[in-house]
Order: sequence, then structure tokens, then C-alpha cells
Amino acid sequence: MTHEKTGKGSFINLLIPPKVKEVRITEVLPCLAAEDRIRVVGNTGEKLSDLLPVIYLYLPQATYSRESDSVSFMFEEHLITIFGEGKITATNLKDRGEAVRILNYVKDMLNRAAVYVSRHGTPSPELISSKPKVSPIEINKILPKKDCGECGVSTCYGFAVKLALGESKPSECPHLGANSQKELQRRIHFIQI
Ligand code: SF4
Repeated sequence: MTHEKTGKGSFINLLIPPKVKEVRITEVLPCLAAEDRIRVVGNTGEKLSDLLPVIYLYLPQATYSRESDSVSFMFEEHLITIFGEGKITATNLKDRGEAVRILNYVKDMLNRAAVYVSRHGTPSPELISSKPKVSPIEINKILPKKDCGECGVSTCYGFAVKLALGESKPSECPHLGANSQKELQRRIHFIQI
């Protein structure tokens, strides 16, 4: 068993004491999906159950199970699962450095979710069940239709798909005005954290 601390948190930690201070990598295992890849198990040492519905409502394509007390989602090409007991798993990683980067991303998101809960409480079952599906077709209607590739994707529709999956941010398109960015944020994330 190996232990490695992920790095310091985001600026949010400077404003409110972060709930998750670190994610320790407790296991490094072969990835079942690809021979040359690894998967890791991390542990935050914190109970996370109250944050999972927030993550579910924030990320457009996340799945949430109250029974298994977990939320799962894709980030880049990694399947990430966060468990209420404090454990985080991530797959399809090229090395430990990438694992640290991904776990830091999750840690920052959990801390933003903790800020949300401190302000609004844990989302009600009604709110959880009212999350709409995000449609790439609807998102594409707001994009500039230049197909210039400057966002790293060759077409606007391809970028819309990535936005709908929660893998890109509206700010990655340099041709979007502030109002369009705001509108996309509103459509992509059912709640903002
Ligand atoms: S940078 Fe913007 S305009 Fe260009 S392809 Fe990407 S989404 Fe379309």
C-alpha cells in the first residue's frame, strides 16, 4: 500500500476552511480497461455523503446512487467514483502524476460542494429528482458556429458534446461573449458551485 498526498487546494481554501484537506493515494492497481494504465484508490478521511447530491446536480452527466452512497462521472477519459465513506477511485491513468492531478480536481470540487452545503443545505429529494438532461443540440445553438478549432475540438458541435459531458468549460471558446458564457453555465450545471 502506498501513500501520497495531493497538493494544496484552490483559492477557495483561503476563504473557507476546506472540508477535504488532502486525498491520500492508498492503492495503485492495474487498470482493467488498458494494460499500460493504472487505477487508483484515494481516501479523504472525511465523510462525504452530504456532498454527493451536490456533485450530482453540478455535473451534467453524473450518476448518483443513494443506496450505494456514491456518485460517478467521467472526467477527461477517467471514470471517477466518490463514495460517501470518503473513498475516491479513478481509472485509466497514465501515471501517479496524472492521478494526483485528477484527485486534486475532485478535491477542489468537493470543497466547493461543501461551501454550497454550508450555504444552502443538502439538496432535497425533490431537487435531486428534478435535474434535467443536458442536450448537446441545445448547447450547440448558443455556440458561434465557426468550427475554427481554437477550443481544441475541430467543430462547435464536438465542443457542445464535451460541454454536455462536463469535460470542457464555456470559457475555452474564445469567441463566446460574456452573456453566452453565462447562459451556457446555467444550462450545463443545474446548480452552480
Ligand atoms: S473555439 Fe468556439 S467557435 Fe471555434 S470550434 Fe470551438 S466552439 Fe466553435
